Amino acid sequence: MKVLVIGTGAREHALCRSLSQDPAVTELHCAPGNAGIARVATLHPVDQLDGDAVTALARELGADLVVVGPEAPLVAGVADPLRAAGIPVFGPGKEAAQLEGSKAFAKDVMAAAGVPTARSYVCTTEQEAAEALDAFGAPYVVKDDGLAAGKGVVVTSDRAAALEHAVACGRVVIEEYLDGPEVSLFAITDGTTVLPLVPAQDFKRALDGDQGPNTGGMGAYSPLPWAPEGLVAEVLESVLQPTVDELRHRGTPFSGLLYAGLALTSRGTRVIEFNARFGDPETQVVLARLRTPLAGVLLAAANGTLGGLEPLRWSDEAAVTVVMASEGYPAAPRTGDPIEGLDAAEADGTAFVLHAGTKAGPDGGVLTAGGRVLSVTAVGADLAEAREKAYAGVARISFKGGQHRTDIAAEAAR
Ligand code: AMP
Repeated sequence: MKVLVIGTGAREHALCRSLSQDPAVTELHCAPGNAGIARVATLHPVDQLDGDAVTALARELGADLVVVGPEAPLVAGVADPLRAAGIPVFGPGKEAAQLEGSKAFAKDVMAAAGVPTARSYVCTTEQEAAEALDAFGAPYVVKDDGLAAGKGVVVTSDRAAALEHAVACGRVVIEEYLDGPEVSLFAITDGTTVLPLVPAQDFKRALDGDQGPNTGGMGAYSPLPWAPEGLVAEVLESVLQPTVDELRHRGTPFSGLLYAGLALTSRGTRVIEFNARFGDPETQVVLARLRTPLAGVLLAAANGTLGGLEPLRWSDEAAVTVVMASEGYPAAPRTGDPIEGLDAAEADGTAFVLHAGTKAGPDGGVLTAGGRVLSVTAVGADLAEAREKAYAGVARISFKGGQHRTDIAAEAAR
């Protein structure tokens, strides 16, 4: 099988790593990729938002499967020309990707499908926003309606700051605050059959102790020893299957990865958000535990044959990933610094390093090239061991101004 992966992040590196370990995959390509992905796949400098260019590349390569990683190309509709050309593609088309592309659309689908979520208002004027804020009271939750790379959500008890964010965004969803631990549950679907993966938890805030601004994600772990038994079955029945059924009934079937961001509140499980793709950094730990070869599963989703697949097999081991970010992330990341210690981090098989914002430097080196730079990942008998190994990897890597959280999975490992 020849596979083409679209994207540049650590999620795509994790996908490429798993695909490269699948004996069914004979050729692996990535566009545009990064310095780490280049070690397992052939890179192609194609604009990932240009559906015609991606389709032309897939044709030229004779790709049997295209996997679209990030939300931006999915929401831009890059999967549509691929499907129209008869190329199997993992990832929803433009309309179904609105589940992530518009918070208001997602709320509408959830209401129609009876999926439990926070009560909310869509607001477009300052007065509407002010009324919605007062209706719910503090803490306030204000979400940019459109894509914002995980940075469009403000949760604050400062009413003026909440209102300012609403006005700055224009169109927002304002909703009730959901209290309780968060869980990310991914499901692979072909538009009809829904196959949940194992739950993970990520860490959205920049600093230890969940302080600082929201980011794309600073680390993750799986499994969740504290999660209630039966959580996956419950979410499949009350959230994932009804959402997939609703989109199919609307004539815009969702095929690809449905990501449910959940809050386990005292009043039950609620959806915080949907994403239309693998989450980053949770993918790094979920795929580290998947034993079933990945390519066949993604192809079955693309071809609508997921119902005929054997149940997925999982490792009992735990996985932890720690994101190393540049100085200034998330506001103004500094780039262009040489990264030291990449080989040392992997030398004894303790950890493996997934690249996000990196690029090849002069004389074979690797330079920082984005906010989130690396995802250092490790597997262990339990979370404590996986955590120790991941942080041992982190300790061997350095670049100017690099920052990471020191408390990823700490509480769960105790
Ligand atoms: P989202 O992009 O919708 O996942 O929001 C980013 C983060 O903001 C989430 O992971 C939560 O930590 C927080 N958040 C979003 N919506 C709510 C809510 N209704 N109540 C409490 N926290 C929220």
